[in-house]
Amino acid sequence: MSSSNLFYEQSSLGMMQADLDLKITNINQAFIDITGYSANDVINKRPDILSSGKQDKTFYKHMWEAINNDGYWSGEIWNKRKNGTIYPELLTINAITNIEKEKTGYIAIFSDISIIKDQGVSLGYLAHHDPLTGLPNRFFLNTHLDNAIERSIRNKSKLALLFIDLDLFKPINDTLGHSVGDVVLQKVAKRIVANLRDSDIVTRWGGDEFVIVLEGSQSADHSSIVASNLIDALKKPFFVQGNEIYISSSIGISTLTDINSHTPSCDLIRHADTAMYQAKKLGGNQFYYYDKEITLAIQQQAYIETELRTALEKGQFELYYQAKFNTHSNKIDSVEALIRWHHPVKGLIPPDKFIPIAEKTGIITPISDWVLNTACKQAVQWLQEGTPVQIAINISAIQLNAGTLRNDIADSLNRTGLPPHLLEIELTESLLIHNVDKTVRLLEEINKLGVSIAIDDFGTGFSSLSYLTHFPVNKLKIDRCFIKKLHCSNADKRLIKAIVALAHSIDLSVVAEGVETLQQLNYLKEINCDSVQGFLLAKPVPNTEVSLS
Ligand code: C2E
Ligand code: CA
Ligand code: CA
Repeated sequence: MSSSNLFYEQSSLGMMQADLDLKITNINQAFIDITGYSANDVINKRPDILSSGKQDKTFYKHMWEAINNDGYWSGEIWNKRKNGTIYPELLTINAITNIEKEKTGYIAIFSDISIIKDQGVSLGYLAHHDPLTGLPNRFFLNTHLDNAIERSIRNKSKLALLFIDLDLFKPINDTLGHSVGDVVLQKVAKRIVANLRDSDIVTRWGGDEFVIVLEGSQSADHSSIVASNLIDALKKPFFVQGNEIYISSSIGISTLTDINSHTPSCDLIRHADTAMYQAKKLGGNQFYYYDKEITLAIQQQAYIETELRTALEKGQFELYYQAKFNTHSNKIDSVEALIRWHHPVKGLIPPDKFIPIAEKTGIITPISDWVLNTACKQAVQWLQEGTPVQIAINISAIQLNAGTLRNDIADSLNRTGLPPHLLEIELTESLLIHNVDKTVRLLEEINKLGVSIAIDDFGTGFSSLSYLTHFPVNKLKIDRCFIKKLHCSNADKRLIKAIVALAHSIDLSVVAEGVETLQQLNYLKEINCDSVQGFLLAKPVPNTEVSLS
């Protein structure tokens, strides 16, 4: 036996070797003593034979990320012995490499720390946790934040750090005593944890300060949602030893804005701390981003969101209508309904400014219902006045995915009595690339109702004309950006001509949008484009200004 084998055999540390397929190839005597498994039980099996189920998937994901990226992982883990008992071990896993630095397998070395745990908690645990709240402490944060930053850069995902400071905590300690203050802090910690996901890191930074790291693919909005939830949660009263205690909190937020540049963890903490002071300066009980522009954008968005909620009730929306003209007859063959918001202070707001926010916040659903019904009613009115015209409405991604679009349309047609052929829906090309089978089925059902379907903004997405043959669509609307370039680029001229010819060959009619000049109009007529829409011929106008006759 070589000296290294002797070391392996006589060590009191459990050892296990595994190959690249994670099959156990070798164990030592201490492994058998600690786990109760013999070599026969485990050789060629996977190490998860020892798994206790106490750690979740994210834990193992992070562990393997560390092994694969850093070459090792070390920490505490709960495993299961052969007899079923669960025990804590201190474990280090190293990737083994050969001389050529190629990975050949893994070695795990562990010690059973149940004795230490039985006496209380382990040394590692104590060093990295706050005894009062049980939360990880700032030492834990220091080690884990660097890893989290690296992961975010590698995965190109977002990372936000929230620095929480309680407002009005000091008077509680001063007037009700430290023991009450301690219990409040414990309860604060619990409320914070209850408002976060398991994968978020929550630490007690010290005193009445807590630091949270939100990792993952959330948007800047996500951190603001978490922050405002936390502020709401901490505003509710705490009941401690017969006292009803009210506190509030100020939160500073820093984000890894440029994921390609390495932001040191200390900067992230410092920025969040600075932002927290800004939140305090503004009166506390609020959050503030280190990046002022994010703060402003989010405040504006939150403001618009509240206003949008009342806009529907107060009847501040209106549909404008923009005609599309048939190039052969020069007559209107359809009108597109385009929403406008009459804001009591800011005046007329175009859809680009509020539809995206409405989509994010879910308010798009009642707004879309209103659009559908209002447009159908308008089309019925024109029909009754003896000037029937097809009406086109724009469909948002949220409507398409909600699963009720077909029934919403059928209901609206029934309620208003609009003949289905007088309704058209416009979907942007980008909506078609997700969930293709589901979308095809949905569009087929809508088509069966007799409603026609147009692809909006064609040319800006990724679809080709042959791709579109999968979908039951009737019309293509060539995006404005192509029409705009018509007079300066011969290549664009040829492209539009080819699109029109190809679309006709698969029985699609073609509308050109954004026609602003006579030159564009003449060319589109020359190449047989079926309809045109644009400021040259008609701008979007209120219903009273549409002249159909
Ligand atoms: P879109 O469906 O591509 O609508 C065409 C937009 O181009 C309209 O802007 C229209 O005013 C503008 N436009 C028309 N002709 C010309 C032209 O000759 N030159 C130029 N420069 N622009 C022209 P609008 O009304 O601001 O609407 C913007 C977008 O908002 C629409 O793009 C549509 O995607 C969305 N939208 C409008 N109404 C609704 C709605 O009721 N529901 C949903 N989900 N989205 C809507
Ligand atoms: Ca449209
Ligand atoms: Ca369009």
